[in-house]
Amino acid sequence: NPTQPNHIKMSSKLRILVPVKRVIDFAIKPRINKTGTGIETKGVKFSINPFCDIALEESLRLRENNKDLVENIHAVSIGPLKSQDILRTALAKGADNSTLIETSNDSVNNDVEPLQVAKLIKKIVEKDNSNLVILGKQSIDDDFNQTGQILAGLLNWPQATNASKIEIEIDNDNENNQVLVTREIDGGEDILKSKLPMIITTDLRLNEPRYASLQNIMKAKKKPLTKLKPQDLGIDKIENKLEILKIEEPPIRQAGVKVDNVDQLIEKLKELKAI
Ligand code: AMP
Repeated sequence: NPTQPNHIKMSSKLRILVPVKRVIDFAIKPRINKTGTGIETKGVKFSINPFCDIALEESLRLRENNKDLVENIHAVSIGPLKSQDILRTALAKGADNSTLIETSNDSVNNDVEPLQVAKLIKKIVEKDNSNLVILGKQSIDDDFNQTGQILAGLLNWPQATNASKIEIEIDNDNENNQVLVTREIDGGEDILKSKLPMIITTDLRLNEPRYASLQNIMKAKKKPLTKLKPQDLGIDKIENKLEILKIEEPPIRQAGVKVDNVDQLIEKLKELKAI
């Protein structure tokens, strides 16, 4: 990308930023709250968004599989104070440091939208001088699938979305490392090659995340977790553009009818005026 900004030093090792979101655990069936304005969050288990977990796992593997390649892995989350929990998990799995950008949203029912999230992440990228941001392709609560793409736009960095494989072509002294990203597309694979800095979003089949051991969970208590407010990053107000008016269960599906043969099927379809 010839328009890459040059304020970020292109050479050197990977300084990876991994944005992680706290969401309702994937194994839980969400229930609508009594007022029909959002999802019931009381007594519900929350976890790290699965695609963010994959992003973190990939960063850890990049470090483990390439000696001296990764300088730092920083996990950052935007959300309520409780998002500390998933940052502790990220630290226990192997992130070096973490930041919570605390917003007053109560998660799920009043989430910070992708544009605002991307603006906050951009501030951390600039602060850290990050050269690789690995995000999930989407959050499983809002299903936006936007944050990585918007961040790439704001930073004017190349992006590779829905990665199913990430490889680094290491230059002798880490001066001109190139990133190869494979994406599954209809009928084949799309392989993108880019210099750093870049944005990658992860697809489901990229890897299988590890679990944090109890020992590492204990050790992670000593690792850095910085708490910031958006104001600390020069963003005074987080303004969402969308308003949720109402949330409804999908209509209950009618039971189907079984037919014995094709003739009966045609008869039935005629009866229903479907043909
Ligand atoms: P989305 O665009 O909301 O579907 O989210 C895509 C990815 O952006 C997630 O997998 C995260 O990596 C990142 N992201 C979105 N929202 C947040 C948040 N509140 N805090 C940290 N990362 C986030």
